Amino acid sequence: MAEAPAVTYYSTLDLFPQQTAEHNKLYEFYDNLRKGVLTTSKCNACGYVAWPPRTICPECLSDQLHWTELPTRGKIDVFTVQWAGMPPGFEVPLILAIVVLPGGPTFLSRIVETLPEEVKDGCAVELVVLPVDRERVTYAFRLIRS
Ligand SMILES: [Zn+2]
Repeated sequence: MAEAPAVTYYSTLDLFPQQTAEHNKLYEFYDNLRKGVLTTSKCNACGYVAWPPRTICPECLSDQLHWTELPTRGKIDVFTVQWAGMPPGFEVPLILAIVVLPGGPTFLSRIVETLPEEVKDGCAVELVVLPVDRERVTYAFRLIRS
């Protein structure tokens, strides 16, 4: 029998959803993300672009949606640094920012591969796809260093 993978926290505290078609109606979001493509749902009826992606349009309740690609580069609007009370699986310091994508949604994201003192409001950032475990991925952003 294969050795079970190391468990670093209880699965009931797992912040990340299952991402396969059998577990998640939004599995295509994760399939696209694994390829480095950030997508979300766009309503065929009213054109509303939702974030996070939805299976039903929050504006007109249509279930006729399709996937639309989002930019992978944007800017930090504001940010904060969390030094205590980490969610399971996260390390100190945790940099959280409101990221604005041009023509796209504004949303909360982790900022990775940087130190808190390097982050400023207005910093340019780009998408990073991070592994959660062997099967799952998540997104974050990192500073674009020129
Ligand atoms: Zn709609």
